[in-house]
Amino acid sequence: MRLTILMAGAIAALTSATALPAQASSTAPVIGFSIDDLRVERWTRDRDYFVAAAEKMGATVNVQSADANEEKQVRQIENLIAKKVDAIVIVPFNSKVLTTTVAEAKKSGIKVISYDRLILNADIDAYISFDNVRVGQMQAEAVVKTVPKGNYFLLGGAPTDNNAKLLRAGQLKVIQPLVDKGDIKIVGEQWVPEWSPTNAMSIIENALTANQNKIDAVIASNDGTAGGAIPALAAQHLAGKGAVSGQDCELAAVKRVVDGTQTVTVYKPLKLIASEAAKLAVELVKGEKPAFNTKLNNDLKEVDTVLLTPTNITKDNVNLVVEDGFFTKEQVFGKQ
Ligand code: BGC
Repeated sequence: MRLTILMAGAIAALTSATALPAQASSTAPVIGFSIDDLRVERWTRDRDYFVAAAEKMGATVNVQSADANEEKQVRQIENLIAKKVDAIVIVPFNSKVLTTTVAEAKKSGIKVISYDRLILNADIDAYISFDNVRVGQMQAEAVVKTVPKGNYFLLGGAPTDNNAKLLRAGQLKVIQPLVDKGDIKIVGEQWVPEWSPTNAMSIIENALTANQNKIDAVIASNDGTAGGAIPALAAQHLAGKGAVSGQDCELAAVKRVVDGTQTVTVYKPLKLIASEAAKLAVELVKGEKPAFNTKLNNDLKEVDTVLLTPTNITKDNVNLVVEDGFFTKEQVFGKQ
């Protein structure tokens, strides 16, 4: 009897040792989370939700922030590889420079998941994001509804971020037919390095000067850059007069939507993406087959992808962020 138990134990130990790569622990996986930039409000929430979800599943998370520094991110990921983590979840600063680093991770048997932003030209195992083309469409639709005709400025995201291009594609789906019709004139377009609000502000200041203040709408690609554009408009007494978009439901942006200086933000439930990503990582480590809902081409392969659905937030439905528990009523509307 004792012998049988011992043998069964030995066989189980053998099976698990052969079935899993050297570092993998199916009961307590170690996940590296390499985040581009924790200075942007949303990523701190992504981090917190991700860690909570992963820990609930028995995993531990090693979080690294690259502070918008390409080399730093590569070093941090290499460090995670050296630590023999089981999976690395990456929000890339630069979508185009991780080919070799991802190859190193894969060679070491580590699963690699691209989070929110697609890593291009690399052998990643999975991608999870919101439908970024749809986000761009929502931004433009809300702005066009408020300003159907006039001068538009397109304030794109970081040129290093693949999402910036997807957002622009979505925005143009809505705007291009109106440009062709002659209702909308695009008076300028610029990408904002590092998605920096300060850069966004000076871009819009310059654009206002160049156009004698005749800008009716700014299609800003996120709330941070909208937060740069709006003070530039306010300095010319134009805040709240035209339309400005954003995305993320940063608290300041939701308040601007309530005040009427920002037309639209886009709600992307971060708890959902973070917990789905944690689940994805754990499933991949365990050799299970996660549920994907599409494939996206990253210039190397068709990547198994989960795309989640965003929701646009305007003055009319701003309560939704409270109802969904993203903010309290007090946070959004102040003391009642
Ligand atoms: C994300 C946005 C975010 C931006 C700046 C994008 O890739 O999709 O949610 O605002 O990066 O960090």
